[in-house]
Amino acid sequence: MSDHRGHTHHIIDAHLAHAARMHVTRHTHDDFVASPVSTTDPANDLLAHAAFQTSSIDALLRGSFAGDLTLDELLIHGDFGLGTVQGLDGELIILDGKCFQVTSDGVVRMPAGSMRTPFAVVCMFAPHVVEPIGASGSLPSLVSEIDRIASEHAQDLGPAPILAVRVDGSFSEIDLRSVPGQSEPYPPLSEVVDHQSEWQVIAEPGTSIDGTLLGFRFPPEAQGIEVAGYHLHFISEDRSIGGHVTGISMLSGRLRLDGATELHLEIPEGVEVAEADTSEETAKAIRAAEGG
Ligand SMILES: [Zn+2]
Repeated sequence: MSDHRGHTHHIIDAHLAHAARMHVTRHTHDDFVASPVSTTDPANDLLAHAAFQTSSIDALLRGSFAGDLTLDELLIHGDFGLGTVQGLDGELIILDGKCFQVTSDGVVRMPAGSMRTPFAVVCMFAPHVVEPIGASGSLPSLVSEIDRIASEHAQDLGPAPILAVRVDGSFSEIDLRSVPGQSEPYPPLSEVVDHQSEWQVIAEPGTSIDGTLLGFRFPPEAQGIEVAGYHLHFISEDRSIGGHVTGISMLSGRLRLDGATELHLEIPEGVEVAEADTSEETAKAIRAAEGG
């Protein structure tokens, strides 16, 4: 990791950093649980770094809300990540090896390890970039700042099409969202989204909301399997506030980035996980359901 930002200019376009294709390996449930953390190239711990996911956004859009993998099984492969839980009952946050569930009433709970998840993605977070990050008035301005820092550090991150993003910061405002739990027969996600709850947390003058924004940036080719672009969740330091992030106003923070090349995908029995779907229709559905 280099801090000599003024001396070396690795001005590498973000698309170039994406140039290495995301490598997807599919697993059955048992195979996934038993699979060790990938070691494609022991000489290069960047390549060895992998993200692990159960099911896909596409399957979630079609209403596959029945959980398959338990949170304990998920935590074998990562201490950091996001997703949802059994029956789409809220937003899931995995931070420092602990799971938090934020239900549609905005309450933060610690779910049991036996709780199942129909969609989640995790990695063992080992940041290769740690940088202070200044004030950001909006989520788009924050993610473009993260993009800028990631391309500036493309050499530290390696050929990593998947970016795990953690921002510990102080915020004056956070806009959050969660979804209400569903029961069978499950409706498609687009119908649930009509009943999601959204709320704003605004800090009192002179105070701030302190906490962690965390999630992933997936490359365009991952659309369908994943949310292409950024998908971020939030959990406050006191663990009282959390959810899927749709907007922020940040005072200051510290950014940590970790890259991954490989995605290990668990395919629940009876769930069809198609190849990545980059159609505009899918992109629109994903933006509506999971966008910022
Ligand atoms: Zn989300």
